[in-house]
Amino acid sequence: MCGVVGLYSSYKAPLAEEAYLALYALQHRGQNAAGISWIDGNGDVCSRRGAGLVHQALDQNELAEIDCHLAIGHVRYPTAGGDSPRNAQPLAVHSSSRGAFALAHNGNLTNGETLRRRLEAEGAIFQTQTDSECLLHLITRHGGDSFHQSLMASLEDLKGAFSFVLIRPGQLIGVRDPWGVRPLCLGRRENVWYLASESCAFDLLGAAFVRDLLPGEVITVDERGLHSDFQKRKPQRRFRCAFEYVYFARPDSVIDGVSVYESRVRMGRRLAQECPCRNATLITGMPDSGTPAALGYAEGTGIPYKGAIVRNRYSGRTFIEPSPRARALGVRKKLNPLRSLTEGQNLAVIDDSIVRGTTGVKICRLLRECGARQVHLLISSPPVKHPCFYGIDTPDRNELLAAGKSIEAMVSYLGVTGLGFLSKEGLAEAIGLPQTELCTACFDGNYMEDGQ
Ligand code: 5GP
Ligand code: SF4
Ligand code: MG
Repeated sequence: MCGVVGLYSSYKAPLAEEAYLALYALQHRGQNAAGISWIDGNGDVCSRRGAGLVHQALDQNELAEIDCHLAIGHVRYPTAGGDSPRNAQPLAVHSSSRGAFALAHNGNLTNGETLRRRLEAEGAIFQTQTDSECLLHLITRHGGDSFHQSLMASLEDLKGAFSFVLIRPGQLIGVRDPWGVRPLCLGRRENVWYLASESCAFDLLGAAFVRDLLPGEVITVDERGLHSDFQKRKPQRRFRCAFEYVYFARPDSVIDGVSVYESRVRMGRRLAQECPCRNATLITGMPDSGTPAALGYAEGTGIPYKGAIVRNRYSGRTFIEPSPRARALGVRKKLNPLRSLTEGQNLAVIDDSIVRGTTGVKICRLLRECGARQVHLLISSPPVKHPCFYGIDTPDRNELLAAGKSIEAMVSYLGVTGLGFLSKEGLAEAIGLPQTELCTACFDGNYMEDGQ
């Protein structure tokens, strides 16, 4: 998973710094690398990229000095291509056919490897290991009178999940794949137009949310204003990622008209109906992503909620830690129970998801060490049984706890008193979008290639 931003201003403005701030708001979408590209006064693309968090990868003071009309930015979470610094985006090119342009990608192309082989056989030389670079080469190769035409033709070759932002002299372009897998939205402040993976970036910049891009939409912003076009492919149904609502997005974002926070509270309320834990004396949430669902669960059951697990504010997302050892330590580095609240209690702990089970095992042991009599683990999404091929690093099937284990086997592996999951129907209802609009492939194996 990654985060992208794009900015267009009709007057020269410190857009590189604004891109930095927008990326800062999207930091949760990728912590591996960050980068910004802008178009300078000569119509060239300039870029800065680096490893780590936004403030480690980029120099805000340097960016604040840059006045420009167009910029894009990217925070990277490695899926396709591994985590080498060379894979940091945006990717930029100066081509004789299409001039200077840069792009940044959120999502994962399911035909990325096939495309790369085809392009390399035709003589393309790739600079990175990312699937995103395929679009760069496709654009430079496709015929057509204009950049727009070759972009539209190139998009027809792509499969999978893709929200792209692109800049070229005079134009900012935003693309959302025809299935709507990854979010992308449009914002505005006076003469500046913004594109961002999530609306929380606009709040930081004082920009107003205008709307989400529609699945398949290609928006171009230039001196003539805003122009919207649609990709040729018209799929039978949408595949908006349900996991964005469950875990990935920030709670203060609104995606496709649904508040992420409110959807998480509804997941908790629905979980209370589906898995009521009658002998729990206290509800708590696994911070931060389990907290809204825990509040909903407490509301639904009438059992009091308390924040019995404290999160270290300075720790990031432990899931991204590279090795099992680092992941295991990561949970301890990040979460600590409050003994005065856990002692002697029958706890119902709400978390948003179980992937490998690392968090569950560690925290249940810690809660017992802190005097909890019972620990019921309740998950506000269905069991993750299938890998994601669309940009979230839910791993190989055999690493997924729920893929190979029954509920009973998971209960004994996790060391919990009881375990419950939200149903797929419950999840869709809590999100409030029809099941035929949502991707739930990591829960049910219904991948979009299978006929849709
Ligand atoms: P587990 O510890 O079971 O492997 O992963 C589940 C925990 O990691 C949950 O607490 C959830 O909040 C978080 N999580 C689930 N999926 C992802 C993901 O794709 N990326 C990150 N960073 N965290 C995840
Ligand atoms: Fe999202 Fe899961 Fe679909 Fe991947 S498989 S896009 S994580 S719902
Ligand atoms: Mg979590």
